[in-house]
Amino acid sequence: MMVTTHVASGLLLAVPVAAAAPALALPAAVGAVLGGILPDVDLFIGVHRKTLHFPVYYSVLGVFTGVFAVAAPGPLTVAIALGFLAAGLHSISDWFGAGEELRPWERTSDRAVYLHPRRRWLRPRYLVRYDGAPEDLLLTVVLAVPAAATFDGWLRGLVVGGVVIAAAYTLFRKRVPDWLGI
Ligand SMILES: [Zn+2]
Repeated sequence: MMVTTHVASGLLLAVPVAAAAPALALPAAVGAVLGGILPDVDLFIGVHRKTLHFPVYYSVLGVFTGVFAVAAPGPLTVAIALGFLAAGLHSISDWFGAGEELRPWERTSDRAVYLHPRRRWLRPRYLVRYDGAPEDLLLTVVLAVPAAATFDGWLRGLVVGGVVIAAAYTLFRKRVPDWLGI
């Protein structure tokens, strides 16, 4: 799935926080955005979908820090909890997409995301056929609507900008590997 889809789904988690505690809306959103992006930094360092993708550990940490944030609400605790929850959601949802290959529509990779506690790869489920598929863009748009309605200022700009980038990426997705010469 596209990173914009992961950011939008992370921000969806921040929407109820913003509704319950408007003063904590900004740290919740910032934590969600960073957590939504973080796992895909392993595109550039280490092994993609393994080095920074932790479906289990992020999620467990998200629950613990989430409970802590409810007990001791503050900008830092809320941002950290949303960060782990969004990173966990990102890592889990990659399982429902394609493998980690450069041309995922070819379906030559059976590695969706690494399950560290079991020391094995999860096989792709192809619910979203590949990152940048039309259904992926649809997900970005649908998931982004509540965040666009809830947040304002630069955060709303970020959400709308993400949708625009996602649309452009979807349009040219299959040409990207050729353009990069890979
Ligand atoms: Zn990912």
